[in-house]
Amino acid sequence: MLRLHNTASHKLEKFKPIHSGQVNMYTCGPTIYDFAHIGNLSVYLLSDLLKKYLQFSGYKVLDVMNFTDVDDKTIKASHAQGVPLSQYTQKFGQAILDDFDKLKISRPKVICEATKHIPDMIKLIQTLLDKGYAYQAKDKSVYYKISAFKDYGKFAGINKRQLKTGASGRINSDEYQKDNAGDFVLWKAWDKDDGQVFWDSPFGKGRPGWHIECSAMSMKYLGPSFDIHLGGEDLIFPHHQNEIAQSEGATGQKFVNYWLHHGFLRMSQKKMSKSLGNLYTLSQILEKVPNPMAFRYLILTSHYRKALNFSFDILQSAQNTLDKFSNFIARLRQQQDKSLDTTDNQAKTQQLIDIALTAFTDFMDDDLNTPQAIASLFNFINQINKMIDNAQVGPIVAQQVLDFLKKIDKVWAFIFPDKKFDPKNEDATQIGNIIKQRDLARQNQDWSKADNLKQQLDQMGVEIQDNPTGTSWKWKKQ
Ligand code: AMP
Ligand code: ZN
Repeated sequence: MLRLHNTASHKLEKFKPIHSGQVNMYTCGPTIYDFAHIGNLSVYLLSDLLKKYLQFSGYKVLDVMNFTDVDDKTIKASHAQGVPLSQYTQKFGQAILDDFDKLKISRPKVICEATKHIPDMIKLIQTLLDKGYAYQAKDKSVYYKISAFKDYGKFAGINKRQLKTGASGRINSDEYQKDNAGDFVLWKAWDKDDGQVFWDSPFGKGRPGWHIECSAMSMKYLGPSFDIHLGGEDLIFPHHQNEIAQSEGATGQKFVNYWLHHGFLRMSQKKMSKSLGNLYTLSQILEKVPNPMAFRYLILTSHYRKALNFSFDILQSAQNTLDKFSNFIARLRQQQDKSLDTTDNQAKTQQLIDIALTAFTDFMDDDLNTPQAIASLFNFINQINKMIDNAQVGPIVAQQVLDFLKKIDKVWAFIFPDKKFDPKNEDATQIGNIIKQRDLARQNQDWSKADNLKQQLDQMGVEIQDNPTGTSWKWKKQ
């Protein structure tokens, strides 16, 4: 049974969804004012892993992610370029979807842009005003009154009295307009810096604050109470605390059952962030290590709650490990024309698969313990390699192993090379045929033909080895 570390309780908790067989989850998505950096992407890899593992475990998953396409940063950047806001943000929204595709992050079922949900936000703000959780200040902005929410600060472990400066987050509103420094903006009244960016509302023209966006959109698609909410750990306070105050203030119901937070991706031991300027985008790292799966694999080798220190050395060693998977698959495919299958070998393999599957689910059920789950995968591969060494693997056994790998690769999505991004995408049968032609040419002492065929394999990224028992091949190092 799946257990998840819940930030709300600081404990591992057994996972039980609200609706049996169905999981509703929400991930705080990117602010689309620039290209995402690989720290941002690590959070979305976590959402993707969790979604894939829930699906693997038999759940239906409804996953929602927001795109923040209006805030100080997007407005400022679009003004600087002299283009309308939506035109400006569209490009970055598309860029992150391209990154998702490269990393095999399956796109969330619902991707919701803030600017397309302004009426939902206005409605929620109105409810908070009606219930006494919000007030309109002299500057016409509407603020959340944190003193009205009994448990404000509890989720983040922050005492209300300790709140000196604001939970106002990303909106720089004038502090003196608020009753309390911790009060945060729900609706920011228009000012001249906003230019053409504003919406009409019962509270006057303006735009929504960042926090209300996530409350309004998550509840719209997932209901007032849902199962899992995810984000980077920097969002615990104030953003997630504020989401709780808004949603629970408005509905009187528990907002989210399980909160998951991803540890920071770091560079030279510092958080990777735009403000420190120590970031890489996916495109930048692909210039050095071209296979996107290396990054996916690297992120998954570390437990999601731990900070991971990024370097190109560890990215390259992730790629080297992926090469081992590819060569293992190549090795299995070369067993396809060897008559080595026996019922004993098949039974033995099935036993190894059962053990590997149990290890995989046990570790993943333990708060997505990916490093251990990957270690158990290596254990399995080593044992099958031994069977190949001992001439115990023919086509049936090879297929048993490949089927198992395909099954767990629905979650990992890094074992089988991606045809689009990995040069190791050639068909094993085609490679086998070229090798056979070369063998024939060598038998006929047609050395120039044999050389040509060897060169052809070389260009496909294939390295051959002539052994007394025949020719075997593997992928060349990238
Ligand atoms: P932003 O685009 O700044 O709203 O951030 C999008 C997501 O990336 C949020 O969930 C952040 O918590 C997360 N995030 C930002 N920097 C990092 C980092 N260095 N490591 C992990 N997550 C991060
Ligand atoms: Zn959010």
